[in-house]
Amino acid sequence: MASKMPPEVQRIVDLTAKHNKWRKKETLNMIASENVTSPIVELVYLSDAMHRYAEGMPFKRYYQGTKYIDELEVYCNELMSKLFGAKYVDCRPTSGTLANATVFHVLGKNGDTSCIVPLPGGGHVSHSEYGIMGALGIKPVPLAFDEEAFNIDVDLSRKIINEVKPKFIVLGASVIIFPHPVKEIKEIAQEVDAPVIFDAAHVLGLIAGKVYPDPFKDGADVVTSSTHKTFPGPQGGVIMTNREDIYKKVKRKVFPVFVSNHHLHRLAATAMTAVEMMYFGEEYARQVVRNAKKLAEELHARGFKVLGEGYGFTETHQVLVDVREQGGGAYSAERLEEANIIVNKNMLPWDTPDMIKNPSGLRIGVQELTRIGMREDEMIQVAQFFEKVLIKKEDPAEVRKEVVEFRKNFQEVHYTFKVDTRELADKLSLGV
Ligand SMILES: *Cc1c(COP(=O)(O)O)cnc(C)c1O
Repeated sequence: MASKMPPEVQRIVDLTAKHNKWRKKETLNMIASENVTSPIVELVYLSDAMHRYAEGMPFKRYYQGTKYIDELEVYCNELMSKLFGAKYVDCRPTSGTLANATVFHVLGKNGDTSCIVPLPGGGHVSHSEYGIMGALGIKPVPLAFDEEAFNIDVDLSRKIINEVKPKFIVLGASVIIFPHPVKEIKEIAQEVDAPVIFDAAHVLGLIAGKVYPDPFKDGADVVTSSTHKTFPGPQGGVIMTNREDIYKKVKRKVFPVFVSNHHLHRLAATAMTAVEMMYFGEEYARQVVRNAKKLAEELHARGFKVLGEGYGFTETHQVLVDVREQGGGAYSAERLEEANIIVNKNMLPWDTPDMIKNPSGLRIGVQELTRIGMREDEMIQVAQFFEKVLIKKEDPAEVRKEVVEFRKNFQEVHYTFKVDTRELADKLSLGV
């Protein structure tokens, strides 16, 4: 088709095709906040719903033409509710940040104080003074962080919480190798009557797969999340709670404050991902953590400084490596990219602000490699690639050839329902 088309069309198709071929078929995608959707999720995502409007709540919309979208939204919420044991679910926030924004806005106001995981301890920018928390005028006070254990220091945090008396407390983070102490913090929070929000963006899929502690069981009042990290859905956000008082306010803030239309094609795709997690989530999540542990051990054995030593390295999908000796996080991430290994540089707790351009760390996630069928044996191979590029300083372009070859055996998404994609595309009236 391309030859008869104007050059503008060719360029757009070409760039998209190049991206897809590269990241879908040839790279080792190890950004801890990403994942791939399965073909069935991808196909229901490409729905006419992406063109439509449905402001408000299901069956009480400001627009006509939404009867199936209404059913899908209700069903999506029901499935998420069942999967996570939350009575009230709102899938309308179009991102994790907007889920947080809504809940922070409900629980705090300008001039209030909150307690959060410090940024150097992996806290997310939306919890911080630089993000939505700051924009809402709520002052975030960091809890105490134990760098060695890479976790919240409960005893020191108790003092902070009792002193600050925050309006609410946010746990959960973007760099998280061990479960945060939701239960312990909740006990302290009760003394000052502060609800606890658990931001599950990174670990939602691990919670679904029962390898990460259930935040509701441990006392979280609200769970906010993205729907596209270890939970392998389309990009989006969700708010879940068992507290009717909070939900009633959340419901009135999502729309009209933080979203008007909520990107309706996400609903079927998010619902389908919830179903995948019901059927395959436990197997997937167990393998994710096994792979992370294996990769951490193999990197450590090859001379990398892996965080969490003495604590089993990791209990999540993430592996943290201090690569100062290898040239720093930025340098290392760039060399790895040349070898088709995609990771991101990351600040480690002891980094000073001036190190932001070349921080000490790499944050590595194995959830996507797991989704495409890799297991412990492949983690050995992956660790060898890291060693070749960063320790043996082999030419990344040479390593890239090996990576592309290795990746050829892992082209399909596992932990999903096998479908005839052409037949399904037909049924969904796609491409016509
Ligand atoms: C990724 C992340 C978010 C933000 O999610 P988006 O969907 O990118 O807006 C919020 N909190 C934490 C802890 C995250 O890691």
